[in-house]
This record gives sequence, structure tokens and C-alpha cells, in this order.
Amino acid sequence: MEKEEESFIYRLNLYIPLVLVTSFMSIITIIMVIYFQKQAIYEYKSVIPTQFEISLKDHVDYDADILSESINFIQENTLVEQGLRNLNKKEIYKNIEKTFKSMNKSLNLTHMYFMKTDGTILLRVHDYKRDGDFANRTTFKEAQKRQALFYGLEFGIKKNYTLRVVKPWIVNGELIGYIELGKEIDKILGTLSKLLETEIYMATKKDIFANSPQYVKERLNKMAKTDDYYIVYNTALVPTEINSIIKGDLLNSDISIGDDSFYVSRSALTDVSGKDLGYFVFLSNITLEYSIMNSAVKILSIVLAFVGIIFLASAYIIIKQKERNINSLTEELNIQKDDLKRFNNKLQKLFDTQSNITILTSANSIHMANQTMLDFFGFKDLRDFVIRHKCICDRFIDNNNYFHLGKVEEGKNWIDALRKVSEKDQIVAMMDKHFEIYAFRVSFSEFETGEYLVTFSDITDTMIEQIKLEYKVTHDKLTGAYNREFFDRMIHLHIKKSTPEKLGVVLCDIDHFKKVNDTYGHGCGDDVLVQVVKTIQKSIRKDDYLIRWGGEEFIILMKINTIESFKTVLEHIRLKIEKEHFDKVEHITCSFGATFYLNNEEDIMQTVERADQGLYKAKDEGRNQVQILC
Ligand code: GH3
Ligand code: MG
Ligand code: MG
Repeated sequence: MEKEEESFIYRLNLYIPLVLVTSFMSIITIIMVIYFQKQAIYEYKSVIPTQFEISLKDHVDYDADILSESINFIQENTLVEQGLRNLNKKEIYKNIEKTFKSMNKSLNLTHMYFMKTDGTILLRVHDYKRDGDFANRTTFKEAQKRQALFYGLEFGIKKNYTLRVVKPWIVNGELIGYIELGKEIDKILGTLSKLLETEIYMATKKDIFANSPQYVKERLNKMAKTDDYYIVYNTALVPTEINSIIKGDLLNSDISIGDDSFYVSRSALTDVSGKDLGYFVFLSNITLEYSIMNSAVKILSIVLAFVGIIFLASAYIIIKQKERNINSLTEELNIQKDDLKRFNNKLQKLFDTQSNITILTSANSIHMANQTMLDFFGFKDLRDFVIRHKCICDRFIDNNNYFHLGKVEEGKNWIDALRKVSEKDQIVAMMDKHFEIYAFRVSFSEFETGEYLVTFSDITDTMIEQIKLEYKVTHDKLTGAYNREFFDRMIHLHIKKSTPEKLGVVLCDIDHFKKVNDTYGHGCGDDVLVQVVKTIQKSIRKDDYLIRWGGEEFIILMKINTIESFKTVLEHIRLKIEKEHFDKVEHITCSFGATFYLNNEEDIMQTVERADQGLYKAKDEGRNQVQILC
């Protein structure tokens, strides 16, 4: 159960992020597709204001051309010419009424004016009753100023946005008046709306109607309006958002009207003089584009979902397969681990049955140790031991009768060094947890390359006898100093060892010792000998040797470098003896003859002989002094 739960969690840990990442990527892809698609639609529709302005200008120019031709046609009518020359409103009307009606039908002409040379309106063919006012619109003023045809879009007195074409009537260089033809542009806007596939709204500022006649105001108030604008022209229903659109809030985005979506843009509405009148607002239906986009997104979503499911299913299968592999591997590993544990336990038990200290070790680290070893040193377990000691060899006592680390050459390891010495010297001394010293014979067997099974057999009992015997043979019975036997046995070791230091050989003889014997008795003489030895031993170093050479004469062997330091050391010893207080005798002195062992070839007895000459000299020159001969 626990295992099943574990693999369920393992699967969840892999699967949840995988599902999340896949879903996240799919959603991001869809959002990006929608975003870019929308941008493309917007970009495509954003050119509408420019297209509108260009098309409007083209249409206006075209219509102006036709109206200009129409004026030319009127000016060929001599009766009308006569009427204008006579400033006879009636006469003109009578001769032009038919033409106006047919032009109204065929060209959608809405206005026809005849002006006097000063700009006073003589006749409004479309509004016969009104006359006598002054034509002060830009189109007229420009035509008057230029004395040539001029046209443009402009508001009239009734505030209709109208294309006005004004032309002076000049006969044989004489100006007889002006003709103005006008056409409201609603029709043009209707055409452009179809052409550009966009709804068009003309929003005109309210304040430009401030001085309009009442009937105009009433008419305007019936139209759609915002706070500041009248919607004076619209090709479709005015949307509720018109206020925000005019303010510019919804520009270049889309709004919904019913089930349809519209892209919103606008263009400035100005008259021929450049006066700011408001805006042309465009609502371009993008429902079709959106529905194409939505279909594409739907297909993409289905594809993504399908790919996602296939991907997740494959991932699931792969994860399950991997999980099975991991499980079988883990099981195998666990079995191996158990086997290894059992083997280790057995090995440890085998180790622990050994009564001798037994370890499994390489030169530098200890891998296994038995209970005997832990009990001997007083450690809880091997880890406890390893924290304090890198190697069991750390515990070998530094004593010349035994093998110890001091006997291992630099760069070599203790196991190799110990295996090289003869079997009888493969003995080490170690101190137990009660500070008692034990001697062990060490035996090895190579377990694996570089790893040894090392056994330490306790031979303390047999060694004690041997040590005692050895001590007797090499030490002077009275003083405990080394004896001549020791000198004979070990001197070759010292002279063969090539050390950076030289070997100093010193002969030391107690001055007038005979007198001591003679005065205080032989026993007192013995006591003096013992005390002199102790004094000298305290003054020399651990590596130096004090040997009783015979009677009251001693040899000191020491490693020394220069004659100066040799002198200093010997003076120090001489002074110590001089200052030492002896029972009954009070004070005694010693004389010292010293020399260096010259080279490896020299017979050591020659060196001793040279030291003896030094001693002879010291005695001769007054005793209690040091003489070094080189
Ligand atoms: P110098 O200053 O010239 O060395 O004079 P010395 O009297 O010390 O020299 P000498 O060689 O004449 O005398 C050494 C004496 O040391 C002779 C001997 O009886 C004494 N002696 C030698 N061994 C022992 C010993 O073990 N015990 C005692 N008490 N005396 C000893
Ligand atoms: Mg003497
Ligand atoms: Mg002597």
C-alpha cells in the first residue's frame, strides 16, 4: 500500500506540472493567435479614414467637374445672360427653372444661385422667395477674388454640408455676375459607405449652429446627438457608444451592435476654409473576419487539445515504463544492499570473534575493526576511533625497542615499512585505555590490493623478560646509563645513518675522583657517580646517548652541527655539574674532551682517541673545562 502511494505521488509530481505546462502553452498559443489575428484585422481596417478622405476628394472633384460643365452650359443661354445683365430675377427664373429641375433630377443638384457682381444674391432658383442677402461663403469669396472657378465643401445657411461650385460670368472680358451650383453630399457619402464597406456618421459640433434659424434648430434637435455634437448624417443606426467614440475613447478597437462587431475609426470634418466642424465616424463591420478568426481558433484549439492528449498519453506511458524500470532497479539495489549488510554483519561478527586486535586497513585509513580493538583503546565504535585517529599507527609508542612511526622514512607508509623489517622486529607497543603499555606482534595478509587484514597478537609477557634481559645487557648496573656493550652494538647504526647533522663524541671524566673515594669512602663515590649521571641526563637531549665508558669516565654521543653550538652545549653540562650539590662531597667538577666523527670511513675508536686527547688536554690545562679537537 505504502509503495503504491509512493508511486502515485511520484506520478503526480511528474504529471501535474506536465499537464499544467501543456495547458498553459496551449492557452498562450490560442491567446497569441487571437491577439495577432485581431491586430491584423485592425490594421486592415485602420486605413479606412485615409481611404475615405481620398475617395471623398475624388468624388468631389468629379462632381465639381460636372457642375462646372453645367455652369458652362447655363452660360450659353443668352436669355439668362440678358436676365442677369438686367438684374431681372423673374426673367432669369423663367428661363432657368426647367434646366434646374432637370439638373436636380439627373445630377442631384440642390442649389442654384445667381449673384450680382458685388456678391448680392439676385436669385435662389431652389428657394425663389429669398434674395438680396450677401453671399459671404468662402467658395464665393475665393471665386470673386480669383475671378475664376472655385469649389469646395461648405455649410450653407440651412447648415447642409454641400459641394459648392462658384464661377464668375464673364462676357467679352466683362463681369456680369456669378453662378453657384450646389449639391448636398449625402449621396456621395452613401456611395462611399458602400464602396468602403463601412457605416459613416457625420458628427457636427453644436456650436456652429448657434446662429441658425429656428426651423433648422428644430430639425437638428430631432436628430441623434451627444453633449457637444449633432449626428447630422448616418448610414446606419447611431450606436449608444457614439459619445465615447467621438471623444476618442473607443478608437481603433471594436464595439458590438446586436450580433455584429464593428471596428471604430474617425476622420476630421472640415470645410473648404479648413474650419474644424467635427468628425466623420466610421464603423466597419468585422463580424465576418471575427467569425473566420473564431473558426480558425476553434480548429486550432481542437488540434492543440488532440496533440496535448497524445503528448500527455505518451508521457504517461513513458513515465509508467520508467517507473517500472526504476522500481525493478530499486528492488535489485535493495536486495544487493541487504546482501551487503548481511555480509558486513557476518564479517564484523567474524572480526569480533578474534581475540587479537584485528583490523582491515589501508595505509591511510582504517575500514573495519573488531571489538577487541575498541575495548583495548576504550572507543564506542570505529567512527569514534576514526574521529580521533587517522590510523592505528598513531598509537604506536615511540620507543627504539619497537617499531614506531619515527622509523618510517618520509613518503613511505607504515605498513610497507613494517613489512620490510625482519619478522622478529615486527613488534609495536601501544598504550591501552588504562595507560598500560602492551607489546604486540603484528602480522599481515593482503585482503585486496592496498588493503590489509592486520592482526596484533599480545606478546607483552614474553617481551617483559626480553626487555629486562636487554636492559641488563645494555645498561650500567650502578648508574643506569648505557654501557660499553650498548655502545658496541649500536654505534654502527649511528655512524651509518646519513643525517644532516654531524656526530659529536665527548669523553667526560670526574676530576680528582680518587680523592672522593679516599676521603668519603667507596659508597659515597658510588653515590656521586649516580648523581653525576642523572645531572648529565637532565642536560642532554632525548636523542643523545650517555654511556659509562669505565670507572668515572663517560662518553656522550650527540648530533651537533657546529663547533660553537657543541661548545655551548658542553659548557652548559659542565656548569650544571659544577653547580650541583652533592651529599658530603658538596661539589665536584668534570673535564670534557670532545671531537666530531669525521666521515663514514673513520674508525670510531680513532674518534674516541681524539676525544681522549681533548680530555687529556683539559686535565692538563687545569681541569673543569671543555676542550674540542677537530
Ligand atoms: P683525575 O682528576 O686525573 O682524573 O684524577 P682521578 O683521581 O679522578 O683519577 P684516577 O684515574 O687516578 O682515579 C680514578 C678512580 O676512580 C680510581 C678508582 O678507585 C675509582 N673508581 C673507578 N670505578 C669506581 C666505582 O665504580 N666506584 C667508586 N667508588 N670508585 C671507582
Ligand atoms: Mg678522574
Ligand atoms: Mg679516570
